[in-house]
Amino acid sequence: MVLLQMTGLSGAGKTTISGHVKEHLQQLDYKVELIDGDVFRRTLCKDLGFSKEDRCENIRRMGFVADLLTRNDIIVIIAAINPYDEIRQELKDNYGAKTIWVNCAIETLKQRDTKGLYRRAFLPENHPEKINNLTGVNDIFEIPQNADLVLDTGQESVAQSVQKVINFILQTV
Ligand code: ADP
Repeated sequence: MVLLQMTGLSGAGKTTISGHVKEHLQQLDYKVELIDGDVFRRTLCKDLGFSKEDRCENIRRMGFVADLLTRNDIIVIIAAINPYDEIRQELKDNYGAKTIWVNCAIETLKQRDTKGLYRRAFLPENHPEKINNLTGVNDIFEIPQNADLVLDTGQESVAQSVQKVINFILQTV
């Protein structure tokens, strides 16, 4: 079955799109599971930090769990920032994962700032609330070199982005 790895900055729309896609496909009687980065960071990956090594290990564990599910006819969507090409490629090589780049301009993300992270990342150095490892601001995001589908959520509506992902999955299953 299909394994999708969404990749994109915080607030780009990975969780929102995945949730709608899941709902829609379940209505078509597909089995779908969402592997959410925030949930894994609170549970199976709570020992990991935000170094390159730990960010890759985070995705590696998600890929491992996802593979168990796809072997059982479940469509799996991994929704995590997933910033490094090396580990995206590893999931592609090991499990046939398709990459969906959920792209959005940083200016739009700063305006959305649903979790308040961008405000904190742009605070002056030494501010007590300052975040120093926000992907796309002061931590690396490698542009996906071989994305199978690219969304631009700064330009598209949620419904348009969701439809693009559904079309992609239905062409792939
Ligand atoms: P992420 O999971 O990537 O951190 P979220 O899904 O939590 O991002 O938040 C994305 C925010 O952007 C939501 O508030 C959503 O309503 C908004 N948004 C606007 N346009 C889109 C779009 N085309 N696709 C997804 N989200 C969008």
